[in-house]
Amino acid sequence: MTVSPDLVRAAPKVALHDHLDGGLRPATVLDLGREAGVAVPGETPEEIGDWFFRTADSGSLPRYLETFETTVSLMQSTAALTRVAREFVEDMAADHVVYAETRWAPQQHLRGGLTLDQAVAAVQEGLDEGGPAAAEAGTPIVVGQLITVMRQLDPDPALAELAVSWLGRGVVGMDLAGPEAGFGPQRFTELFDSVRASGGHLTIHAGEADGLESIQAAIDCGAERLGHGVRLVDDLTSYGSGVMSLGPVASRVRSDKIALEVCPSSNIQTGVCRTLADHPIGALWRAGLPVTISCDNRLMSATSMNRETTLVSRQLGWELEDLRAVTLTALESAFCDEETFERLDRSVNKEFDALGALGA
Ligand SMILES: [Zn+2]
Repeated sequence: MTVSPDLVRAAPKVALHDHLDGGLRPATVLDLGREAGVAVPGETPEEIGDWFFRTADSGSLPRYLETFETTVSLMQSTAALTRVAREFVEDMAADHVVYAETRWAPQQHLRGGLTLDQAVAAVQEGLDEGGPAAAEAGTPIVVGQLITVMRQLDPDPALAELAVSWLGRGVVGMDLAGPEAGFGPQRFTELFDSVRASGGHLTIHAGEADGLESIQAAIDCGAERLGHGVRLVDDLTSYGSGVMSLGPVASRVRSDKIALEVCPSSNIQTGVCRTLADHPIGALWRAGLPVTISCDNRLMSATSMNRETTLVSRQLGWELEDLRAVTLTALESAFCDEETFERLDRSVNKEFDALGALGA
């Protein structure tokens, strides 16, 4: 039996790719705009939600990124960052996400006078506030921060120092984001190496707006996961009756278990494909690649973990065990410590066993 929306809601989920500045609630955009005296695109949460979706839905990555100027301008104080981070936890927990990482670029949040360290502290405060409330509501969740570096800016060693100084206190690693084509990751290797040498992890946006070479470059830089990575499909050759041959890059991704953080609705908006039926996720999944599902930007895509998971499950005709497999793949690729992994692995399997016993 294929997975139903109710079953997706009931199942534990893992969200690896979610931008803090892409997941604000429309009502929060409205409140923060009033508090900061910044004009926002709408007078009601509905109007605001609609504006973000329409503007991001133009089919081009540069236009999509424009919507972030609005959210980032509202996240320039301790109170705003803390609120958005707390709501990230609440919203993920409400979708029964048991492990989530939020990524954001602290250097974009200094216009109000915050230092890099104060900005990270503000986000961590919100993440810490959200946790106990989620546990009390019966939906415990573990969260981590990823420090995003913007690829169009010059490498700033202060960002690596920042990430390293917060390792073990909420930050789990580093991410590279921004316009992919023409801005290779190689310039940032010193930053990446220093974070990894201190025990931090690395994920790089690659294979979304650019192709296989970009994916190869990310892997060469030590990426343990790929943000999107969907253009890996260019390295697959399929022969009739579902037989798939993997090229060298895809083979490496599969053997090294470099998880693909696939965000289907976002990919459609940025022009990777036209519809979910055309999305490479089906081919990547059938090729046995480590596919995971995330939202990227819940505000811009008007989506949620439940929605993305439901869409993919329906498209690929998934059954309960497929849902378990994609969740466990994500958990195995989570940037958490061994003890947290083992605890979550046990509880996730227990929940799926229970759902299976219910005849789901
Ligand atoms: Zn992203």
